[in-house]
Amino acid sequence: MSTTAFSSLNLKSELISNIETLGYDAMTPIQQQSLPAILKGQDVIAQAQTGSGKTAAFSLGILQKLNVKQFRIQSLVLCPTRELADQVAIELRKLGRSIHNIKILSLCGGVPIGPQIGSLEHGAHIIVGTPGRLQDHLRKGTLNLEHVELLVLDEADRMLDMGFQDAMDAIIEHIPKNRQTLMFSATFTDEIQTIAERIQHEPIRVKVDSIHQQTTIHQYFYPVENHQHRKKALQLVLQHFEPQSSIIFCNTKIETQEIADHLQSLGFSTIALHGDLEQRERNQALIQFSNKSISMLVATDVAARGLDIDAVDAVINYEISRDPDAHIHRIGRTGRAGNKGIACSFLMEKEIYKFERLQQSLQQTFSMTPLPNEEVLHKKIFYPPMVSIQISGGKKHKLRAGDILGALTSDKKIDGISVGKINIFDNHSFVAVSHKIVKMALGKLQSGKMKGRSFQARLCR
Ligand code: AMP
Repeated sequence: MSTTAFSSLNLKSELISNIETLGYDAMTPIQQQSLPAILKGQDVIAQAQTGSGKTAAFSLGILQKLNVKQFRIQSLVLCPTRELADQVAIELRKLGRSIHNIKILSLCGGVPIGPQIGSLEHGAHIIVGTPGRLQDHLRKGTLNLEHVELLVLDEADRMLDMGFQDAMDAIIEHIPKNRQTLMFSATFTDEIQTIAERIQHEPIRVKVDSIHQQTTIHQYFYPVENHQHRKKALQLVLQHFEPQSSIIFCNTKIETQEIADHLQSLGFSTIALHGDLEQRERNQALIQFSNKSISMLVATDVAARGLDIDAVDAVINYEISRDPDAHIHRIGRTGRAGNKGIACSFLMEKEIYKFERLQQSLQQTFSMTPLPNEEVLHKKIFYPPMVSIQISGGKKHKLRAGDILGALTSDKKIDGISVGKINIFDNHSFVAVSHKIVKMALGKLQSGKMKGRSFQARLCR
């Protein structure tokens, strides 16, 4: 029997047969390295990227340990963002669908807490959640973690970047010390190491970081001659691939602004994300990017830390990072969840050492690719598929996504497909609509009523 076969593990038979139906023929390297220890009940600290199969690795540990007859919370997965928590809950449900009466509950912010309290009253075996909301439940006394036997910290480095350290500590206080703790992180920093020492017991250390890039991210490395040529190269690559969403990484804040200004002057829809932006501007930029009404974010590693952004089509390293781990972290924002992604990096002759260091670190060989043909510059500059409209009402006016959707689509002149993401804040909201209907949508929102009153609506930028 091959050691990559799931059947080589001592898993419950219903889990094995379900894995077969899911078409997981063999373990991924992270699963191969971590599952034997996880199933033995040992603590594990694993360096793994999204796309490596890490979710299934800890999910199988949770499901194997689960005693479905004991109706109490036995495992907790902490995630930095709601998106990740949703993905984890989906994977857990998929892998656990052969276990009858299993109850997996997702507890994340951004949605009303009331229904979650109701669900908790009905009981659950496994909780997946974000730190802030879990803390809210602990404060209210609506969540009992005293029977948790297995704790997972997923994307631990991102949780630290997002400032969740205190919340994490407070939550862990509620969990018995005599437990199994699994930690997954894209990077192994000293901070992560310190936390591991504090909350884990003789963890097994596992590192796998290259399969993700090989399987779902296509990396292109382009030679450039000088700074001017680098700018041109960026334009060539953008017009060649026309990614609907991309993050362009620079090494300095000044450069992010310079590049964003340059791209804007060419007609691209882009914004620089850096510490000088006011919180309001930053939030608006991120909303527009995530609802597909801005195509590109230009950012430094620091500014991009902890961004709650779904997978992007392309990551462009305008300047390649000196640190291979940072490079891997950057490009891990594309090609997520099995989607194909592209990562482009520009290199001047004097930067070749970074390229070599990266190949060494990834234990992969890459070749340089010639830049796309200049003919692509004749193409019309592409624009994002959506436009954002800001509305002068929000939660305080009891406005909900359904009200906005209703106001736009009730007379059937606009169909639901033309309406994108809706984000509601305390005093204002955003709705993304497709280019084709933007005038009509604006007219409806300006002249119609929602919750019995009129609101102002304006196009963003
Ligand atoms: P993750 O790294 O957890 O985000 O997983 C990436 C994707 O790989 C998910 O869509 C999983 O469903 C899938 N996956 C996980 N393990 C396997 C496996 N052994 N074989 C095939 N696909 C897998």
